[in-house]
Amino acid sequence: MSRGRPSGEKTRCGGLWTEARFRSFVKGNLRSATRKWQPIQQCKKNAHVGRGIYMCNGCKQEVPPTIVDEDKRKRVTNIFVDHIKPIVDPEVGFTTWDEVIEGMFCESDNLQLLCKKCHDIKCEEEKALATKRRKGSIDEE
Ligand SMILES: [Zn+2]
Repeated sequence: MSRGRPSGEKTRCGGLWTEARFRSFVKGNLRSATRKWQPIQQCKKNAHVGRGIYMCNGCKQEVPPTIVDEDKRKRVTNIFVDHIKPIVDPEVGFTTWDEVIEGMFCESDNLQLLCKKCHDIKCEEEKALATKRRKGSIDEE
């Protein structure tokens, strides 16, 4: 058995939650707290190049902070503070909470501002790597 892989057994929250559910719950709450993390606020400020205009570090375009999502027919966030080195390496997966916390509350040298399009592309790539890793680990068993 490899360490750190959720078993699918409901051992958390009085037997209602799997380890994976518990982890994403804790991660989500930590992520909310990063809004109060100064390097993240600073990254947004640094990318603010004019009134309501931000510089995306991916496509190097000047972008507005919100855009209209035509499918959802509503205004959505268009600027994301991205961790250049991912919080959890998608090719390795979850290791320890220490790593998650260190990664999430990182210094400004690991942060960049991305527009929604660039952020979505990066997320897709990381998701694909994580999926590949999970498939690989199932094959080993
Ligand atoms: Zn961009």
